[in-house]
Amino acid sequence: TNEPQAYEFQAETRMLLDIVAKSLYSEKEVFVRELISNASDAIEKARYLALQGKELDSSEADMKIHITTDKYDKTLTIQDSGIGMSREELIDNLGTIARSGSKAFIQQLQEGGGADPQSIIGQFGVGFYSAFMVAEKVEVFTKSRLPGSIGYIWASDGCGKYTVEECQNVEPGTKIICHLKVENREFADEQTIKDVIKKYSSFIGSPIEVNGEQANNIKPIWLMDPKEVSPDQHDEFYRYVGSAYDKPRFVLHYRTDAPVDLRCVLYVPEGKPGLFDLNRDAESSVSLYCRRVLIMNKAENVLPKWLRFLKGVVDSEDIPLNLSRELLQDSALIRRLRTVIQNRVVRFLFDKSRKDAESYSKFFTDYGIFIKEGILSSQEQVEKEEIAKLIMYDSSAKPIGEKVTLPEYIGRMTDNQKDIYYLAAPSRELAESSPYFEALKKRNVEVLFCYEPYDEVVLMQLQEFGNRKIISVEKEMRQDKDAVDYEGAEGGLRRSQANELMDWLKTVLSGRCWGVKATPRLESHPCVITVEEMGAARHFVRTQFTQIP
Ligand code: ADP
Ligand code: MG
Repeated sequence: TNEPQAYEFQAETRMLLDIVAKSLYSEKEVFVRELISNASDAIEKARYLALQGKELDSSEADMKIHITTDKYDKTLTIQDSGIGMSREELIDNLGTIARSGSKAFIQQLQEGGGADPQSIIGQFGVGFYSAFMVAEKVEVFTKSRLPGSIGYIWASDGCGKYTVEECQNVEPGTKIICHLKVENREFADEQTIKDVIKKYSSFIGSPIEVNGEQANNIKPIWLMDPKEVSPDQHDEFYRYVGSAYDKPRFVLHYRTDAPVDLRCVLYVPEGKPGLFDLNRDAESSVSLYCRRVLIMNKAENVLPKWLRFLKGVVDSEDIPLNLSRELLQDSALIRRLRTVIQNRVVRFLFDKSRKDAESYSKFFTDYGIFIKEGILSSQEQVEKEEIAKLIMYDSSAKPIGEKVTLPEYIGRMTDNQKDIYYLAAPSRELAESSPYFEALKKRNVEVLFCYEPYDEVVLMQLQEFGNRKIISVEKEMRQDKDAVDYEGAEGGLRRSQANELMDWLKTVLSGRCWGVKATPRLESHPCVITVEEMGAARHFVRTQFTQIP
């Protein structure tokens, strides 16, 4: 049909439009970022198909984003030579909310009750619909790049309805015309637009032209010489790739040619991880490129799960472009990349721990839980021990607040100490006054203190480090074979009295304990209870139970 057809927006979309239009959002300019990023996505999709050998309408010579401003007409036009849309795609993509960001936005608003939409829009970006913050009418001319496609025009004033109509002479790709509201006419000003591009879109991988002049610098940071990239550039790039608002605390810019070709820039955020990041289902924040072509945003599997707190870009020339996205998910190559990156990141963090102990220790306080997860989730002992170089614990040999690593601990061990000792307790106070600690303290043996329930699980899994067994002091106590010197102990029990007491205890506790024995180790405590094997997990188990409301 050639008649314009009218459609209604899906209910959720209407609601979103309503909120976006009404919340007098102070940074309206983000709509420029959203439309440019859509144009860029569309170009990346076209490039990707072309590289896979798909036949596309017209050449890929002009993969650019053209922006034109017209003050007189109060219009801003954003045109791309990207993949374009068919009629169905227009209706599906611009009439309904598929976008995860927008969905999360609405959810957040609904859950947050009276939450301030302004602060939430910036966080999620509401995509295409943000154009209605500034436009009284939006027209989308689009024609799919797949051969034999027809051109369409989609139009709406953002008030519940839109129309779709066939249209002649549409260039392959998409052209969006924003007819600005009078009060937003500033966005028809060339300089304003250039400034906004500089602020939000400097790293877009395609050239952006404003009224015929190039407005962005398109040299990708990760392909540059690490020495040439300034901290400011990293800050900006971090915010761009990570959709973040803070800064990176650590920057790893790494290039290698063997065993795989790899160029990557990875960031540890300045901010602490949110509850959501802790979730193992959290999305990856790393994009995968091959020779500057975006292969996959939020690429899973390029990094091991436990490194999901990193943000950045991984580029490898070795990725075959004709590989399907599904296969990419877990090819041998991706596994190789993952191993190389993990090793490099671990080495990087280990260096930090030695050269910049203070910031490393802060990092560990915020992100240590991921490192522990890394130990638990790796298969090989070598790998576990590599990652274990990064964990830190309180130590009986250090004042409160100073943590030690396992290599440091081993460095201080004397010749007559074979094993690494740890004690799990809810707090430093309880650890220091623990009967299990008493004997080792007397012998001047360093003990690591750990306070989190999962610490024991991690250390039990690790089992050893640098050929030293890692042993809970509870277990150590149980293995104690030290003889009691009955004659020497002044005011103590005689051997016969001690035996009598032990027999009595065995009867009273029968069926509930394996054995009772005398020890010379305790000084300020009359007795201790030790538990075989599960002993180390007792603390964990107890916490699990006490957490049940
Ligand atoms: P998102 O970009 O997160 O998917 P948007 O609301 O920004 O959400 O866009 C919705 C969808 O509309 C996109 O996923 C895409 O399929 C389509 N779209 C938007 N702009 C363009 C464009 N310039 N070219 C082709 N498709 C587009
Ligand atoms: Mg978008």
